[in-house]
Amino acid sequence: MLHKICPRCGSKKVKWIIPQNWSTCQCYDCDYTGPIVEGDDEFAEEIRESYLASKKEE
Ligand SMILES: [Zn+2]
Repeated sequence: MLHKICPRCGSKKVKWIIPQNWSTCQCYDCDYTGPIVEGDDEFAEEIRESYLASKKEE
């Protein structure tokens, strides 16, 4: 099963902001706006982990 995933934080809580442009979405979790990626739960988890890791380094 594929989900729309925020490429920055791996969240699946994204919404379309431009109906004419399906690839541009906003993420509820990190306020990312831009092209969205599609992937399964494993892929989302990978992004999530690297996002959390990069946040820790700040
Ligand atoms: Zn996000």
